Amino acid sequence: MRLPMMALLFGLLSATAHAATAPDVLVSIKPLHSIVAAVMDGAGAPELLLTGAASPHSYALKPSDARKIARAEVIFWTGPVLETFLETPLANLGRRARIVALGDAKGVMRLRARKGGVWEADEDDDHSGGIDGHIWLDPRNAMAMAGTIAGTLGVADPSHAKLYAANAEAFAQRVMRLDAELARNLAEVRGRPYLLFHDAFHYFESRYGLSPMGAVTVASDRPPGVRRVEMLRARIKGAGAICVFSTPQFSPRLLPALTEGSAARSAVLDDLGADIPPGPGLYEALLVRIAGSLRSCLAP
Ligand SMILES: [Zn+2]
Repeated sequence: MRLPMMALLFGLLSATAHAATAPDVLVSIKPLHSIVAAVMDGAGAPELLLTGAASPHSYALKPSDARKIARAEVIFWTGPVLETFLETPLANLGRRARIVALGDAKGVMRLRARKGGVWEADEDDDHSGGIDGHIWLDPRNAMAMAGTIAGTLGVADPSHAKLYAANAEAFAQRVMRLDAELARNLAEVRGRPYLLFHDAFHYFESRYGLSPMGAVTVASDRPPGVRRVEMLRARIKGAGAICVFSTPQFSPRLLPALTEGSAARSAVLDDLGADIPPGPGLYEALLVRIAGSLRSCLAP
């Protein structure tokens, strides 16, 4: 009597364990990975393609990345506007994986890339078709993406569909509260002018009514020459900016040369969460940190 009972129990346990296996999910960049991780919480964890401070604008796939892509059952990315490096590898995958470009997700609104005046062409402009690809920096877009992520995963893995939907709803509630809090916190720096080295914050600035004067492109991988530095220095001084924001990919040693002779302070503004540990909490931590960096550099 005891042995069949054990066998039955073991059978039940392994059936439960089997049903509890979430699909192999791969996400391109940290902010999206965080939203997917929040939706999958309790069922499994997604894999991240671009770790650390890697920039999606200039990334080259490694053989280990190709293996991750080949293994994945579901792949989330923003789309070809930002992640041009993924366009061909994903097109070559054929029908082996569900591939979702979250830039096209229902309810995600897209802004046009900024140009003219002090808005210089950005690294990713060649492929963008005039669209700004940094879609995750408006919290309303993150809520919309969470809905699409839950829907996609629910079809790929019906055993967890309810959990995915509930997690997406909880994420949206948290982000909605954070959005209201950020709007209150950023009110005091509205109208305070600043310059960016990477035009990544259009969505954030438009959501909270901030006043950037422009973006001067300083490539993160190669330092500007002497004439370029002189030209940028003149622009920064002439613009009368309170603060100049660089990115984590940019060498801080260049900053003093660029802000010399102007009253502008300098600080780092990070659109990807380069040094925030990946996971379900990264997305909210990233928004809080962007708001904090803007406030501390721009505050009267
Ligand atoms: Zn960018």
